[in-house]
Amino acid sequence: MAKRDYYEVLGVQKNASENEIKKAYKRLAIKYHPDRNPGDKEAEEKFKEAAEAYEVLHDPQKRQRYDQFGFDAVSGVGGGGGFTDVNDIFSAFGDIFESMGFGGFGGFGGGRGRRQKPVYKGRDQRLRVELTLEEIVNGTTKKFKIKNDVVCDHCHGSGSEDGKVETCTRCGGSGVVIQTHQSVFGMMQSQSVCPECHGEGSVIKNKCHDCHGEGIKPGESIIEVNFPAGLAEGMVLNLDGKGGAGPHNGVPGDLQIIIKEKEDDTFLRDGNDLVYNLLLTIPQAVLGCSLEVPTIDGKAKINIAPGTQPGTVLRLRGKGIPEVQGYNRGQRGDEVINISVYMPETLSRDEKDAMKRFDDSDSFRPSESIKKKIFNKFRSYFE
Ligand SMILES: [Zn+2]
Ligand SMILES: [Zn+2]
Repeated sequence: MAKRDYYEVLGVQKNASENEIKKAYKRLAIKYHPDRNPGDKEAEEKFKEAAEAYEVLHDPQKRQRYDQFGFDAVSGVGGGGGFTDVNDIFSAFGDIFESMGFGGFGGFGGGRGRRQKPVYKGRDQRLRVELTLEEIVNGTTKKFKIKNDVVCDHCHGSGSEDGKVETCTRCGGSGVVIQTHQSVFGMMQSQSVCPECHGEGSVIKNKCHDCHGEGIKPGESIIEVNFPAGLAEGMVLNLDGKGGAGPHNGVPGDLQIIIKEKEDDTFLRDGNDLVYNLLLTIPQAVLGCSLEVPTIDGKAKINIAPGTQPGTVLRLRGKGIPEVQGYNRGQRGDEVINISVYMPETLSRDEKDAMKRFDDSDSFRPSESIKKKIFNKFRSYFE
């Protein structure tokens, strides 16, 4: 098979970002994965071809050499010499396959005779964070000190007291042991992960006294989290690789931030709208007035028309919460002002007399058409 240009193999542009390259490779690796295409030679070739292209293009130095000088500059040892064995691909890019869900630790249909070094992943962690309404509207950045596993500073994660790592004598460094036993079908061979080195192929004789050979120990780290504007209760921010350090210089776990919304004294939240209940006095509602209402950005002046009914809804456009994602990202909801009217609970004798006089006046009695109008408005809230 003639060698194809690495960019062409991955189907990316010459100026593709590292992330695009990784994504393109993942897509091909899933498509041509041997577990999905058992016995398919062509798929296997494509799988190897993609791995070779990825091996060069995901490494900035190799990529630069390849861009300048082509295949010759990257072939040979440690370059894009090509993979002759699918198993080498698994050991070279184990982390990618693990994040694809094929399982990194003894994964991909284990026991098929391939050597695979285990990839150790650190602990995943969760953190609940309470945000105020202001923080939600404006977005914020916060720093947290979290207790998690950190890389052992004594052995720098190797787990070895003296820095020495020896080839496992039990499995000869292969990470697997083959046992032969008699069965009714004759002599059978079975293969399992080496119990001595747990598949590592190497052992540490002199374990780090600080971390007992794990390469990690309990500690604390400070993380800075950026909260975009518009988050809501129960939303989750996934911070990949911000969890506990991975044992034996493995990959760190992930951190999930679960959003909790602090109850606000002034506003209720309805989706991206903020609801404010404005309590008018009877004279304010009857005579009309101009007054200030709170918004999340400060105060706003509004006019109340004479004869404003309780239950009337006013909207201050764009004074709500920004949309956190998608096409309408950043677009803000409204402040919804619900008008209610305060009815005095105790009155003096004079006030009672005045109210009685009002009750005798026709102006204080709704006509049939007004009744209908108010009822229709009321009904519309249920539709
Ligand atoms: Zn072993
Ligand atoms: Zn250590």
